[in-house]
Amino acid sequence: MIKKLFKSIARLAPSRLSIKATRRVKGVPHEPELFKGARLGIDHKLISHAAMRTVQELQKAGFKAYVVGGAVRDLLLGIRPKDFDVATNAEPEQVQRTFRRARIIGRRFRLVHVMFGPETIEVSTFRALQSDDIELDEHGRVLRDNVFGEQHEDATRRDFTVNALYYDPISDQVLDYHHGVKDLKSKLLRMIGNPEHRYREDPVRMLRAVRLAAKLGFEIEGATRRPIKAMADLIHNVPNARLFDEMLKLLHSGNAYEGLRQLRAEGLHHGCLPLLDLVFDHEDPRAVDFVTRALKSTDTRIHEGKPVSPGFLFAALLWSLVDEKWRQRHTQGEHLIPALNAAIDEIIDTQLDALAIQRRYVSDMREIWLMQPRFEKRQAAAVARLMEHVRFKAAYDFLLLRAQSGQCDTALAEWWEAYLQADHAARTELISQANASRTKSGGTKRRRRRKPAAPMPEA
Ligand code: ATP
Ligand code: MG
Repeated sequence: MIKKLFKSIARLAPSRLSIKATRRVKGVPHEPELFKGARLGIDHKLISHAAMRTVQELQKAGFKAYVVGGAVRDLLLGIRPKDFDVATNAEPEQVQRTFRRARIIGRRFRLVHVMFGPETIEVSTFRALQSDDIELDEHGRVLRDNVFGEQHEDATRRDFTVNALYYDPISDQVLDYHHGVKDLKSKLLRMIGNPEHRYREDPVRMLRAVRLAAKLGFEIEGATRRPIKAMADLIHNVPNARLFDEMLKLLHSGNAYEGLRQLRAEGLHHGCLPLLDLVFDHEDPRAVDFVTRALKSTDTRIHEGKPVSPGFLFAALLWSLVDEKWRQRHTQGEHLIPALNAAIDEIIDTQLDALAIQRRYVSDMREIWLMQPRFEKRQAAAVARLMEHVRFKAAYDFLLLRAQSGQCDTALAEWWEAYLQADHAARTELISQANASRTKSGGTKRRRRRKPAAPMPEA
């Protein structure tokens, strides 16, 4: 027993040494409000086995450990969290020693990834509130900060009150330092502390406000929302990789359409998706309709638990630009496929740097776009080759959206729908019908020029 006690004191000692003398910060409650998880409706079945084990093992080793952040918020809303974070007073090395499969990651914040089977739990050590050791850039953005602190400080460091709840699944207790439970019930996203200061420290918080409001159907509380427009430009200082992560989360939020509109309304898109202006204000209503449909169908897929691909989403967002260039080039006499290839290169060259899109998705986008004219070739061999393509399903969904928004012949989309459902004999018949009608209307070699979406500029 004593040995066990010594062991846990020894484990705690280094952590205590590195904790700075904690100050009581004005207006920050030291003691949390406590709630029983069951009374707030937490369903234990929604908690992952890995999260449970991580908390259990850390507590067994003598540390404090709680599920924290978005996972608690989602549990209280009855949503199954897509990832679990655990906060603890154990330092990264101590966490690593507690588990068989764990590794320390990160530079800006050192964290531990604890792995149970396919699941990874992110374990972070309570952060101190203020420290001389925090490294800032010239705009006040935090670059590095690995000073550990007390739980109430860690709570104050989090972004929104509803994201600063701690849950101990073993004792079924929720710890609330910032009236997050109250805000959660009122569906309010409220920044902890001074919003301007918090946005300056980390401009991504502005994107998070918009994204989480869209995801949860919450309102952004007045004082939290007010500074965003004036501070939106700070987004330019954030590394692209972080912006891209946020954009992906927004597009996968289940409310991407509303999220992107809101992003633009706040002027936040300038630093991460400037093309939203071109997309939402496009002079051709078919282009606006196309993007709206693409985003709404993505939202529906997310709600149905179906996968959505980032390549497809970005292909949809950029399509009106590519399509416009393609039409221009084709009208000026370039052949269909080279015109499309050149249009894609042009858009990728001009847009990619302004966007926070990772290059690995660009090849998916290119393939989805390049397959569009191939749907028009309906000889048996060409059809079979197209269907073997790994990106066929995405490209086909893309074609359907184009047809629905009047960007291509609906008869073509209907033919493909029929073909995919048909048996072997019916497919043969469909192929011969398609080729007979093509021959009648002038064969496959001569292509009709696509009607330009908007009047072409004078040559
Ligand atoms: P999601 O449901 O999209 O995962 P989340 O709130 O869980 O939303 P994460 O990025 O997983 O988002 O972050 C986990 C927690 O870490 C947040 O709930 C919040 O407490 C804290 N956090 C994340 N990003 C920030 C930030 N930029 N500033 C302050 N706290 C943050
Ligand atoms: Mg999360």
